[in-house]
Amino acid sequence: MKIDVDRTKCVGLGLCEAADPEHFEVNDDGKLMLVRDSFTEDERRAVEEAVRSCPTAALRIVGALS
Ligand code: SF4
Repeated sequence: MKIDVDRTKCVGLGLCEAADPEHFEVNDDGKLMLVRDSFTEDERRAVEEAVRSCPTAALRIVGALS
């Protein structure tokens, strides 16, 4: 499974980073960088929390678990 970011919605607030810093990082310019765009089943809970925490609904999970 992968993390998909809608860049037209992301405003760089960094709540996703607070929820899951292993996948999300907002740089000094306020741009979201994905540290990694894929995640394991063990990491799913943290990623889902980050997706939920985004106030602009810019994040979603795509694909099937491989
Ligand atoms: S919480 Fe949402 S708007 Fe904020 S940096 Fe993360 S994806 Fe972008």
